[in-house]
Amino acid sequence: MVSGLSGIEKVSVHGGHSGQFCHHASDSLENVIRAYIEAGFSWVGITEHMAPMSDASRYPDESEGDLGADFLLDRFRTYFSECRILQQKYSNKLEIFTAFETETYEGSTDFVNQLVGELKPDYLVGSVHHVEGHCIDYDEGHFQKAVAAAGSMESLYQAYFDAQYGMLMDLEPSVVGHFDLIRKFDTNYLQTLGKPGVWERVERNLDFISENNLILDLNLRGFDKAVEQYPSMPVLEAALELDIAVVPGDDSHGVKSVGRNFDKGIEMLQELGASTDWPKPALINYT
Ligand SMILES: [Zn+2]
Ligand SMILES: [Zn+2]
Repeated sequence: MVSGLSGIEKVSVHGGHSGQFCHHASDSLENVIRAYIEAGFSWVGITEHMAPMSDASRYPDESEGDLGADFLLDRFRTYFSECRILQQKYSNKLEIFTAFETETYEGSTDFVNQLVGELKPDYLVGSVHHVEGHCIDYDEGHFQKAVAAAGSMESLYQAYFDAQYGMLMDLEPSVVGHFDLIRKFDTNYLQTLGKPGVWERVERNLDFISENNLILDLNLRGFDKAVEQYPSMPVLEAALELDIAVVPGDDSHGVKSVGRNFDKGIEMLQELGASTDWPKPALINYT
């Protein structure tokens, strides 16, 4: 099925968070999936956040809401069974992948591998939301704690891209989520990204992504709050030079954000001469 801007296929490699399975999202998973069908999507990766490894690794809102790690793990298992049911139920209208978005912190690799073994996701979105033990995309306050722990903005970026590199090597996720999320609360992010100690890490990580044929999430959520998409323009241009596949991810967190900024993202890719012939994420082979 083809629809959207100039006949370009509507897809999302990253999104489908729902209020049913994520504390900071809204709506049921089924209604989110119906919204994708109504919007004319061809295929969608549903990539709910993985459960936290322990109470200490919960998102701030989960701690405040008193949702224990045990409860969150149970809910995450339910997410998988529910998403598999919906994948079947709507298979003649929309191709759905049942996937998840990783966390990256001390001990997370073993936990991700354990979840992959148990739940057999179709693929992984490899993301980093924590640096130095602090959540870097939740709010300004937590971000500043991470800056203080790292010692400077530049060291924080370095630590973020080093954590991402470790995650990429450990997991080789089919999709790399919001590559430069670290910039979310940094108003001078273009300058920080351009610092030699930061940019060389960006290039190193992009080389790995290119060599292993991973997909870069063109994360359209960035347009809402952070001026532009993730990855930001200089990173995106460097990725395209390496022939990295860039595929839209709306990072939807409820019906309202399904397909958000899609046309904006496509126009930008077209201006850059990037391909809009989207590859699907490589599925994990369990045999
Ligand atoms: Zn989220
Ligand atoms: Zn994320």
